[in-house]
Amino acid sequence: MKIDILTLFPDMFTGVFGSSMLKHASEKGHVSFRTVDFREYAANKHKKVDDYPYGGGAGMVLSAQPIFDAVAALKAGLSHEPRVILLCPQGERYTQAKAEELAQEAHLIFLCGHYEGFDERVRTHVVTDELSIGDYVLTGGELGAMVIADSVTRLLPGVLGNEESAVTDSHSTGLLEHPQYTRPADFRGLKVPDVLLSGHHANIVKWRKEQALKRTLERRPDMLQRYSLTEQEEAWLGELKEEE
Ligand code: SAM
Repeated sequence: MKIDILTLFPDMFTGVFGSSMLKHASEKGHVSFRTVDFREYAANKHKKVDDYPYGGGAGMVLSAQPIFDAVAALKAGLSHEPRVILLCPQGERYTQAKAEELAQEAHLIFLCGHYEGFDERVRTHVVTDELSIGDYVLTGGELGAMVIADSVTRLLPGVLGNEESAVTDSHSTGLLEHPQYTRPADFRGLKVPDVLLSGHHANIVKWRKEQALKRTLERRPDMLQRYSLTEQEEAWLGELKEEE
């Protein structure tokens, strides 16, 4: 996968793309990251990328021209149509389902806003998607682009080893993940549940599923509305609700 990021602050990405899983994924060739400072595309002497909003009001608005031209330059000569994703608090709320969808793409372009946001013509004529990482307002789209780049990259085939598989992660299954324990079995009197030490695979699978249901019921009952329960899970959930 190719990930291009249009930003006025490319330095913000150095640490994130140069560390941990994102670094390994790009070293192994699963993904390539490129940051592009769209100020370079400003067609004016002072490389100015923003201007006052028509109609008045506080703050500055990013102008259409540098962004139109930067995206056109990134797309020139391509035989495919990349997704052009605007980071935006007004966009569709980003979810794990969206991460899974984006992980199928060969090329993503992220557009990071700043100041008061963008000239509306960027929205209507350049982007294919508008994504928000939550109902709050960031100073710029860079942190959002990092969040999405990280969560998409870890889903690419070969990026995570078995020891950190994404399959049972919270939100991947539609439930929150079951609790995890590691050695020692008894830490200052705090014991690991017996079933996990039993070596009985079927019982462990059952315990984990029950715990995932329990945790989701307690913390995110809204997720259960969208999850399609098997008969067995429905029975377990019934028992959990009775216990409550
Ligand atoms: N005036 C804009 C509004 O009310 O919709 C907010 C502009 S915000 C200060 C500047 C930039 O930060 C936005 O253009 C966007 O790129 C990014 N941003 C802010 N909040 C975000 C969020 N929740 N998700 C994704 N990007 C966000």
